[in-house]
Amino acid sequence: MTTARLLKNWTTGQLDTTMIDLKAHIRTVPDWPVPGVQFRDITPLLQDPQVFRALIDAFVSRYREPSLRPDVVAGIDARGFILGAVVAYELQVGFVPIRKKGKLPFTTVEEIYELEYGSATVELHVDAVHPGQRVLLIDDLIATGGTMMAGKNLLEQLGATVIEGAAIVDLPELGGSDKLKAAGLALFTLVDYAGH
Ligand code: AMP
Repeated sequence: MTTARLLKNWTTGQLDTTMIDLKAHIRTVPDWPVPGVQFRDITPLLQDPQVFRALIDAFVSRYREPSLRPDVVAGIDARGFILGAVVAYELQVGFVPIRKKGKLPFTTVEEIYELEYGSATVELHVDAVHPGQRVLLIDDLIATGGTMMAGKNLLEQLGATVIEGAAIVDLPELGGSDKLKAAGLALFTLVDYAGH
């Protein structure tokens, strides 16, 4: 474990977990899944028990604050499930999955969003959240912001309020985090990478 301080947006500042170098545990895989993409692979972060705990604690300590405590955590398919489920468990609130089209068995609401080439659809069970509930939305990474925006829209379709979007990684040069903030979504991310 290194001592470089790479966490940003750290507001509470009371945990030693701020001293873990998360970037040292994120693997960059060039040209995957397509040429030109620098894939930021978070699996090494999950694999190391101390780093995984520190990562989860960074989110949990923030969302334990009464003003930020959610009623529900929503995780985005698929790495958002890993993070979101553990954070929800620690906060003692429920977890709901936002899934790619065709995976959820019950009645859903859906949101179509644009990708670089073509479009994608995400779905949420109609009874996943209730009007007025405060939801924390989690994914592993924000690139163009389309996925998180679609998640926000789905939750709002059901009358919930998304209190914050959280992710490990932000790629600010792709403009997604600015777009989400401009749409009124507060964000909490832990590390940035330049470029894409
Ligand atoms: P976007 O909708 O463009 O913000 O893309 C975010 C979603 O795509 C997240 O669910 C990420 O897991 C995935 N993603 C996009 N770009 C990358 C990348 N460079 N490395 C890892 N995951 C990525």
